[in-house]
Amino acid sequence: MTVNDTDLSIELLIDNEEEMVAFGRQLAEVTAGHAIVYLEGNLGAGKTTLSRGILQHMGHKGAVKSPTYTLVEPYTVNGRQAYHFDLYRLADPEELEFIGGRDYFEEESLCLIEWPCKGKGVLPEADLWVTLDYNLPGRKASVKAGTEKGQEMLRNLQGLQES
Ligand code: ADP
Ligand code: MG
Repeated sequence: MTVNDTDLSIELLIDNEEEMVAFGRQLAEVTAGHAIVYLEGNLGAGKTTLSRGILQHMGHKGAVKSPTYTLVEPYTVNGRQAYHFDLYRLADPEELEFIGGRDYFEEESLCLIEWPCKGKGVLPEADLWVTLDYNLPGRKASVKAGTEKGQEMLRNLQGLQES
């Protein structure tokens, strides 16, 4: 088999908010363990909705709000640690150091990172790279892998899509 995994990417049409949450459930399943997930896309593209789907599937019961001013929101759910970042207001990637950025990435945690472009140079490489775009009235998503571990996650995600 000669599948070129580095080129593997998954494209999805996501018609409504409910489906975005369901897509989050699939992402939660394939990222069990330590994973760095970049969530790219414009304001309103659905990054926080997707994060909510992921966190709720892990077992988080409350609301999930984008940590626009605090930059990061920690979650401990069923013994699993997750960090939800929104770097939109980060003026300089080095600021991440002040909020203890590197410590988050080194733990056995799931890191969901909105606006990863703002943390360029300081953020670790993404295992999974999710890009959301408008496809009105819904959205579309494209998922790529940035690491070998991410490629495995992407193949598992593809399996979930086909099942
Ligand atoms: P972001 O974090 O990218 O700024 P949000 O997750 O806050 O975006 O979503 C913005 C709006 O888009 C919300 O009102 C949400 O309900 C809606 N939304 C999310 N996903 C979809 C979708 N797949 N189709 C239609 N609307 C969606
Ligand atoms: Mg958001």
